[in-house]
Amino acid sequence: MIKTTVAGSLPKPAWLAEPEKLWAAWALEGDALAQGQRKSARHWIDVQEEAGIDIVSDGEQFRRHFVHGFLEDIEGIDWQLMTTMGIRNDRYDAQVPTVTGPVRRPKSVHGEGAAYCRSETDHKLKFTLPGPMTICDTIANAHYDSRPDMAMAFADLLNQEARELEALGVDVIQFDEPAFNAFMDDVREWGVDALHRATEGLSCTTAVHICYGYGIKENIDWKRTLGDEWRQYEEFFPVLNSSRIDQVSLECANSKVPMSLISILKDKEVLVGAIDVASLDVETPEEVAATLRAAMEFVDPERIIACTNCGLAPLPVDVAEGKLNALGAGAALLREELG
Ligand code: ZN
Repeated sequence: MIKTTVAGSLPKPAWLAEPEKLWAAWALEGDALAQGQRKSARHWIDVQEEAGIDIVSDGEQFRRHFVHGFLEDIEGIDWQLMTTMGIRNDRYDAQVPTVTGPVRRPKSVHGEGAAYCRSETDHKLKFTLPGPMTICDTIANAHYDSRPDMAMAFADLLNQEARELEALGVDVIQFDEPAFNAFMDDVREWGVDALHRATEGLSCTTAVHICYGYGIKENIDWKRTLGDEWRQYEEFFPVLNSSRIDQVSLECANSKVPMSLISILKDKEVLVGAIDVASLDVETPEEVAATLRAAMEFVDPERIIACTNCGLAPLPVDVAEGKLNALGAGAALLREELG
């Protein structure tokens, strides 16, 4: 009861990539880079196991960014044709590549990394992929007729990748869809359909992660405009609850999402975000337990998995390690309490 996992990304050490930055450049290349990525992923698996995290992740050490890391190996994308685009419904501008032809996945993207992690741990292993809607909101479209058309094309490629990850022994495949909180109507109209396409034929556990973004200034400023109660989740939780996705990963700690909203997800496992990624303060185990206890008012403990609000990538390494330890210890406190 009250198992633990992480949303996905963890910081990269300074010898591997420029620290505390999204889209950080690699500090190594070629074989040295591949070896460094493995070494770092292994380190984070060790840290997670020692912290008592049940379902561990590679910490996204094999990719530069949670969306573009997948896209780098996809054909049909012009990386010279960079477009400045207002992403997440114009929350902030990002330099994004452009889709100029039909997209195709000529080879595995994360297979080698996943196989390596599988060989390094007996714990359940989670791998994250960007969700189709979030991909479409992080790339410019100069080929497809519409965003939903492009999303379905990417969903097919994600499905190919996910089937391969499953065959390599990955236990949980999670699609990251922070864009869901910016385009709530689209989630109902085609966002969940695209997720279904991406997860078709999978028998492993499937998850979707929907947060209010990394703890970067643009997101923190945006959150200030959302008022006293953040009710975005309410608009698409009903359709998500009727979906085939097994788990929903959410931002709860220090957020203004009314916890009662999670009662809509009555048929899902709920990954309760009990670690704030926008603060350098390391939670105490008691604080983690308090967030989980609050969630238990609306979801049976059997369906709660303690998690982080989002990825920890932009945080200093020691802060992230402290937060993982707090997560494990907080869940352990609660398990003890529940007997
Ligand atoms: Zn997130």
